Amino acid sequence: MEKLKPHQEEFPHKKPLVASEYSYHIKNKEKEILANFTPEQQAEIEHKRQILSSLAYFIGKDFHIPVELNKPGAGWHWDFEKNVIRIDPKDLLEKSMDYLRFVISHEGGHRRISRVDFVPLEEWRQPGFSFMMNAIEDPRDNNFVAEAYPTFQEQMNLAYKQDLDFEAKTKEKADQKLGYQPRFIQAGFEYIKQRRVRDSNSWWVSPHTLSKRAH
Ligand SMILES: [Zn+2]
Repeated sequence: MEKLKPHQEEFPHKKPLVASEYSYHIKNKEKEILANFTPEQQAEIEHKRQILSSLAYFIGKDFHIPVELNKPGAGWHWDFEKNVIRIDPKDLLEKSMDYLRFVISHEGGHRRISRVDFVPLEEWRQPGFSFMMNAIEDPRDNNFVAEAYPTFQEQMNLAYKQDLDFEAKTKEKADQKLGYQPRFIQAGFEYIKQRRVRDSNSWWVSPHTLSKRAH
């Protein structure tokens, strides 16, 4: 879910970087990330990034969108301000290719059809806003990708089965943190169920939430 949050400034006290500085910064950041892995794992990460990037280009209809490595365990998202997709290197090593194809197609789908940059920052900060935005936008995105790319439907069902009890866990977490379940959580899940993908027996759950890193 984090992808739909407003971009957090990475260099709050510095002037914005020009393009060449930015790509230098990204290369360094990725070097640091890759240093957490063995040379064999690094090769596997790069290989899978290449395969998945082509799906992101194809679904997003954007053949220049950067597919960068996120911090291990930090999840996946499309950063709409920078127009960058970030992928989780830990998932690349641990999850099946079908699962990975599902998540990258989902992010590519956001690139293609999600337009959220008009939402004022104040709105994003309202309690429940980003949760509800995802509850609406994610099923819409998945329905779109499933029509454009039929294999996606099978991958989505597989990913869904891997985390069947997500709704129960989210509600439990809310109970623990807040002592009650906010209405927006109940409403969000109802909405997700109603936007069930055609011809599918399962409703759709966001890959961000599937990877249990929703905020
Ligand atoms: Zn999403």
